[in-house]
Amino acid sequence: MMLPPNATIGIVGGGQLGRMSALAAARLGYRCHILTPEPDSPAGQVAAGVTLGAYEDPAVLRLFARHADVITFEFENVSAEGLDLLDSLRPVRPSPAILRISQDRLAEKRFLNAADVPTAPWRAVETRAELDAAVAELGLPAVLKTTRLGYDGKGQALLRDPAELDAAWNTLFPKPLVLEGFVDFACEISVVVARGADGTISAFDTVENSHRDHILDMTFAPARIAPETAQTARAMASRVADSLGLIGLLAVEMFVTADGRVLANEIAPRPHNSGHWTIDACPASQFELHIRAIAGLPLPPATRHSDAVMKNLVGVEETAMWPDILATPGLIPHLYGKAEARAGRKMGHVTRLFPHGSLPGPFGIAAALGPLTPRGE
Ligand code: AMP
Repeated sequence: MMLPPNATIGIVGGGQLGRMSALAAARLGYRCHILTPEPDSPAGQVAAGVTLGAYEDPAVLRLFARHADVITFEFENVSAEGLDLLDSLRPVRPSPAILRISQDRLAEKRFLNAADVPTAPWRAVETRAELDAAVAELGLPAVLKTTRLGYDGKGQALLRDPAELDAAWNTLFPKPLVLEGFVDFACEISVVVARGADGTISAFDTVENSHRDHILDMTFAPARIAPETAQTARAMASRVADSLGLIGLLAVEMFVTADGRVLANEIAPRPHNSGHWTIDACPASQFELHIRAIAGLPLPPATRHSDAVMKNLVGVEETAMWPDILATPGLIPHLYGKAEARAGRKMGHVTRLFPHGSLPGPFGIAAALGPLTPRGE
C-alpha cells in the first residue's frame, strides 16, 4: 500500500533524526506529527504538528496515534511496549519486534550470529562468578557492557587487568551485562540500508567513522578500505535487513580487524549519524529512503554521486564556529535548532563533497574543512 500525498507520518522522538526525516517527508508531500516531551524540539520546529507528552503515557500515545496514518521512530530508548500499543492503533515501521532486538545487546548478538553475521566473541554475565568465567574464556582486554540503554560509550567498561574487574562490576551491576572480547580494530565502519515491504533492498556504500570522546566525530564516504571488505559489510547489512523482515531503514556499525575481517558491533533501526552525508552526496538520502520505505513508495538504489566527509558539530566550541563555517565556500552547513550548546551535545553537522572517486588524504581533508580542521589527524 502506498501512503497517498498529504498523509501524515507520526514520528516518535523530537531530535535531529526526526527533523531531517520530517524535511525529507515534506519534500515527498507528506506531513509529520512528532511525539516528544520537549516543547521546542528540533523535529517539532519543522513538523505540521506535535503531541507533547511522555513516551510511557498510554493516553499520550493514543492521542498521538490519532494524528498519524503510519508511525515510525527516530529514538531507540522508547519502550517497546509503548510501540506495541501504537502498533495496535496504526502500522508501526520498523516493527516493535525489531526495536526490541536492537534495544538488548544479547538479543542483538544472538540475532546477528544466527543471521551468519560475525561479532566479537561474547558471553552473557549475570553473576560475579559468571564474569570471572567469561574473562577466563575470552581473555583480557575485554569490554563489559550493560545489555540495555547504552549509547555513545555509556554503560561500558574496558577491562585490561584482573584488578579492574571489581570496580567495573560494582559500577555496572545490577544491570544485566555482556562481556565482549576486545577488538583491536583497524577502523570502524557502518552501512545504512533500507528495505521496502516488497523486499527491495537499497544499501548505501560502506563508510568509515572516527570518534572523539565516544561520540561520532567524522564520517568518510566511501570507507578507505579494500573494496572486497566494503562489499562484505554491505552484504552483511543487507542480510540483517532481510533476516529482520525490515520495513524501513537501519544502520549496522562494524569493526574492520587488522586482517580484514568485518565484525558487527550494533544495529540501529533508524536513520543514523553516519548517514548524514547522504543528504548532500546522494540523489536520495537515508532520510528519503527511510520515508519511502515506511510509506510504501518505490525504493531507488542508494547511489552516491560524490565522495564526502561529514563532520559533526558537537558542544560549545565547534558550535561557536558557525559564522566561520557559513563564510567558507564548499562547506555545506546543517544546524538542528537546539537552543543551547552543551558539552557532548550534537548541534549540527557539516558536509564537504569531493568528485566521485577523489576523496583526498588526511591533509587534503583537513584543508577542505577550513575552520573545522581536524585535530590529531
Ligand atoms: P558501543 O556502545 O557498543 O557502540 O561502543 C562504543 C565504542 O566503544 C565503539 O564505537 C568502539 O570504539 C568501542 N568498542 C565497543 N566495543 C568494543 C570491543 N568489543 N572492542 C573494542 N572496542 C570496542
